[in-house]
Amino acid sequence: MASVPFTTPLLATLIATVASGACAAAPASPDLARRQAQVDKIVAAISPQRIEAHVRKLVGFKTRHTMSDTVSETAGIGAARRWIKMELERCGGAAGGRLQVSFDSHVTPVSARISRPTEIVNVVATLPGTQAASKERIYVVSGHYDSRNTEIMDASGEAPGANDDASGTAAVMEMACVMARHQFDATIVFMAVAAEEQGLLGAAHWAEQARLKNLNLQGMFTNDIIGSSRADDGRVDDRQVRLFAESIPATKENSDSNRALLATGGENDSTSRQLARHVKEVGERYVPGFTVNVIQRRDRYLRGGDHMPFLERGYAALRFTEPNEDFTHQHQNVRKEGALQYGDLPEFNDYNYIANVARVNAAALATLALAPAAPQKVQMRTAKLENDSSLVWQANGEPDLAGYRIVWRDTTAAQWQGALFVGNVTEATVKLSKDSYFFGVQAVDKDGNVSVATYPAPLR
Ligand SMILES: [Zn+2]
Repeated sequence: MASVPFTTPLLATLIATVASGACAAAPASPDLARRQAQVDKIVAAISPQRIEAHVRKLVGFKTRHTMSDTVSETAGIGAARRWIKMELERCGGAAGGRLQVSFDSHVTPVSARISRPTEIVNVVATLPGTQAASKERIYVVSGHYDSRNTEIMDASGEAPGANDDASGTAAVMEMACVMARHQFDATIVFMAVAAEEQGLLGAAHWAEQARLKNLNLQGMFTNDIIGSSRADDGRVDDRQVRLFAESIPATKENSDSNRALLATGGENDSTSRQLARHVKEVGERYVPGFTVNVIQRRDRYLRGGDHMPFLERGYAALRFTEPNEDFTHQHQNVRKEGALQYGDLPEFNDYNYIANVARVNAAALATLALAPAAPQKVQMRTAKLENDSSLVWQANGEPDLAGYRIVWRDTTAAQWQGALFVGNVTEATVKLSKDSYFFGVQAVDKDGNVSVATYPAPLR
């Protein structure tokens, strides 16, 4: 019932005092629970058949190891990335020509998993935002197109990588091709990155450039191992995806924002957790019957992915992964031992499942890029000891802004439970104690698009 999360009885007892100080009924809100026709269209257009064709094409390059052949037109990582770029240019052209496709290339020196200086090439497709006030705001979605087999340095052995990570790459290509037909206020960047298996090198390069350019990057998703709905013991679960979301960023240990989170019990209110809340609510609204299972940790035990270089640079970033991995089909040479087939082969993927994960991603990206930015400088008044909760924030700049919504939840709840639209103001008071609930402030536009929530810092 993710589409109606705000059914808390708290609302019945609530009186809000809006900026004027007058005790008033809440102002009229745009319809915030309805599905947007544009997002429905995008979700419906995602095709499992095209995703399967893309996965099989990627597998056809024999290996996409980062140090594999780059000269051949039929095998190796060079042929693979030229095909990904060509395909994105083709579908971008067919969609009206707004998708900007390019290589993002750098040469990486010798390191633990790189035996000679190697050119690392990401394929980047940018769909520019169309609203002046929002086009500098960026969302990134990625999959990694490199592959590996048992021996991490083996650059020539067969490494189909159908699940890890042709599944994520094909999903991102499909999203790019479908979404390029639509306009969004903010900018969306679709990336097929290289050298994930050699140390997250492609994603780290792009994330570092983003940091150096001070890009307004408001969210990043990596899709890595989203291909199979079947566990190694045969169980099939094709109705959920795991979404890994970090708590307080370890790399910003002494920052003011971390200290404010720690001081107020905000371990579950980092920007990555707020982003995950949005993905869960929107993903389950637009893909009914499919669950976004938020896992409250950075990644699986001692494992990593392309969201990590983004997290390490202070960005909100999440990882999508199938519910139950089958490790005989992951990082394994293609071979048979008795009756058991090892290797990351395309027949072990579930293409309808990948399509559903892509739909969750696309719905989340579309709603984020249609919505206003999350409010800035959100603060909770603390000067007076009182049982109400008074929030202040900085006004957003979007021309289609309708106002703001206060959301709250019990301190042990994962998702927002209550909400109140307060109109186009920069201050509001809720008759609930800031000491007993967690609050957030969201920006809302006239079409009913809702931003990610911002957690309030204490205002002294
Ligand atoms: Zn992977």
